[in-house]
Amino acid sequence: MKVIDAHCDVLNKMMLHPEIDFHDADRLNVTLERLIEAGSVLQLFAVYMSVQIVNPQFDHILKAIDLFASKIVSHPKMMQIRSAADLRQAEAEGRIGAMLTLEGVEALMGRELYLRTLFHLGVRSIGITWNYANWAADGVKEPRQGGFTLKGKQFVKQCDELGMILDVSHLTEKGFWELTEMSERPFIASHSNAYVISPNERNLTKDQIQAILQKDGRIGLTFIPPLVNSEKPAVMTDLLRHIDYIASLGGSKHIGFGSDFDGTAQFTNGLEHMGRYNALAELLANHYSNDFVEGLLHRNWRSFFDKQLPAT
Ligand SMILES: [Zn+2]
Repeated sequence: MKVIDAHCDVLNKMMLHPEIDFHDADRLNVTLERLIEAGSVLQLFAVYMSVQIVNPQFDHILKAIDLFASKIVSHPKMMQIRSAADLRQAEAEGRIGAMLTLEGVEALMGRELYLRTLFHLGVRSIGITWNYANWAADGVKEPRQGGFTLKGKQFVKQCDELGMILDVSHLTEKGFWELTEMSERPFIASHSNAYVISPNERNLTKDQIQAILQKDGRIGLTFIPPLVNSEKPAVMTDLLRHIDYIASLGGSKHIGFGSDFDGTAQFTNGLEHMGRYNALAELLANHYSNDFVEGLLHRNWRSFFDKQLPAT
């Protein structure tokens, strides 16, 4: 089974612990071997502005990208994805695609030059905030629950012009609705679930899900336990309820996965590392048609990126 996963924090772990390499199964949930085991065809790698970094500088992002280039896509089995043509090439050559994303725009300091530079380096999706406020917008745990600043609105426009895909996971609801008004392009929630199924501030309400579907965006269901099940220890079958709910709203072609592996120390039971996608695929196959399962595991993300990434 082919797998596309829209969010992991391997780069952050490697930034904090430079001795970790991409084969370290004791310290990483996502390793090269586990990507192969899972049947991964595309993994998104987030450059995350860790809260441990008090004064984020653009240098931090460059270091993470340097690490991505030297430790991850340097392997002949891997290939950096910047375009729809790259996706086809990786597929033809049997290599695993790796795409850069950014989580939190702190270090861009409102500078379009930095944004454009990241696009040139292959960053193809940006989550405006992590959980708190920055110069562009408020994150979901910021007490005042604001939306975008004036600079943040300009930033959205610049992203639209560049073709940078925006990611609303972690954004406040106010910010979410401002974005639906401002941006022409479809956006994604790379690692969020359904609020109705698991009431957590990081999850999407019914209206938010419908707005994403209406724009032909995508939702990456995440394995972060409280987002999967806010009441009991999360188990794999809980994900089925999120899938069924979003599908019932007309989203069967819009659901994928965004694990958040290496971004959290707690796991949904049965989903402890990338290799466990095999068990998830088996569970899904017991509940849904082959066609539907393929959509969830890779095709829904693939159709989105085929359309939204630069052609070449
Ligand atoms: Zn996140």
